[in-house]
Amino acid sequence: MKNPEAQQDVSVSQGIRMMFYMMKPNETSFQALEEVPDYVQKATPYFISLMLLELVVSWIRKGKPPGRLDDALTSMSAGILSRLPSLFSRSIELTSYIYIWENYSIISLPWDSPWTWYLTFLGVDFGYYWFHRMAHEVNILWAAHQTHHSSEGYNLSTALRQSVFQIYTSWIFYSPLALFIPPSVYAVHLQFNLLYQFWIHTKVIDNLGPLELILNTPSHHRVHHGRNRYCIDKNYAGTLIIWDRIFGTFEAENEKVVYGLTHPINTFEPFKVQFHHLVNIWTTFWATPGFFNKFSVMFKGPGWSPGKPRLGLSEEIPEVKGNEVPFSSSASQLLRIYVVVQFALMLTFYEETFADKAALSQVTLLLRVCFIILTLTSIGFLLDQKPKAAVLETFRCLLFLMLCRFGHLKPFIPSLSFTFENSNLFSVCMFAIILIFHIAFYYSVLQRITMTMLIRLLTYITIPF
Ligand SMILES: [Zn+2]
Ligand SMILES: [Zn+2]
Repeated sequence: MKNPEAQQDVSVSQGIRMMFYMMKPNETSFQALEEVPDYVQKATPYFISLMLLELVVSWIRKGKPPGRLDDALTSMSAGILSRLPSLFSRSIELTSYIYIWENYSIISLPWDSPWTWYLTFLGVDFGYYWFHRMAHEVNILWAAHQTHHSSEGYNLSTALRQSVFQIYTSWIFYSPLALFIPPSVYAVHLQFNLLYQFWIHTKVIDNLGPLELILNTPSHHRVHHGRNRYCIDKNYAGTLIIWDRIFGTFEAENEKVVYGLTHPINTFEPFKVQFHHLVNIWTTFWATPGFFNKFSVMFKGPGWSPGKPRLGLSEEIPEVKGNEVPFSSSASQLLRIYVVVQFALMLTFYEETFADKAALSQVTLLLRVCFIILTLTSIGFLLDQKPKAAVLETFRCLLFLMLCRFGHLKPFIPSLSFTFENSNLFSVCMFAIILIFHIAFYYSVLQRITMTMLIRLLTYITIPF
């Protein structure tokens, strides 16, 4: 029998509570996996609201924002990229789990018992601890997880900086739960465990007193994101810090934390953020002599090299002074505004694509995903001030018009769209004008783009075909 209290729609009260794992078992217990809401996708407005709240609190307290725009956009880009595969199929974390459940489960705990709910909460959090620890201690797993640590800032946007291919490794650590816990219960906790970790990525919350003993808190997770020597390989917890206390990886926050990778990547390009360490492993793998050494390059710690202990030497970690200047974009203020506008417009397409995915054809879905990836790449190029940025951005805008022309994308404000179906000459003229402006944009060296920016913004809200 279905649970009448479990709703597919998420109310505002539930939306707020789910960000802090404060949901009750009876409102989040589902019989079938298909009934489990996509809580993570429904969390977008709460992500944005909490980020705005953090911005306000930071302005009031310190008179400055909690982070940098270029860094935050790159983090949000990574978050979007990591969600795109779920448009096409169930995540491997669920498919592998269902396979084990259907073929190898030993007992089936009741899906509607609060005891199952609480046990799954602990089981998923325990699985997360070990996955996360291995993601730091095994180089090939670190290649995925390093994305999350590549920000040199620390604010709520950092939480969204997620790896695209991390889930292809994390599923292993949850699979023992499939021997006795129904997939619908697991699917709920997998999402809440991830959502809980959003609010702890902030500097505006200092110390939470006795809660610090049990829960993973902003203070504990700040240590986890630090590149100070005392922070490395510490505080792997998801929701409960008790696992770190039990397994000896706990470290309290003391001296000022400097955030990011021990060797910063100094880029805002989304593909480099995701894949640069795989390239490092590839080159190190071929440069390291001996079969067992090559094997160790992949499966020992990221700091390992022949003759060193499994996790490398802590004295080789570059020392930090606390006054390090994070890498930042040299883009002009105008270009930054342009980038924010394009990012916001893309976000509406992204949200709309998820909302309408059942009604969209596979071709439209694929083209939209390509357009989103291209937009994120182009924004990264613009922030990095790459020489090819203008060409790529021009191509992207033309592609946008083409996708609208053939019905794969809708204009941002449909009521403002022109419909000149019978006026081909007009269409060609408008197209030529836009093309000229794009070429002008290309030669304006990205600094003097006020006019082109305006025109290209207009191309988004009005489709002159
Ligand atoms: Zn980590
Ligand atoms: Zn984190």
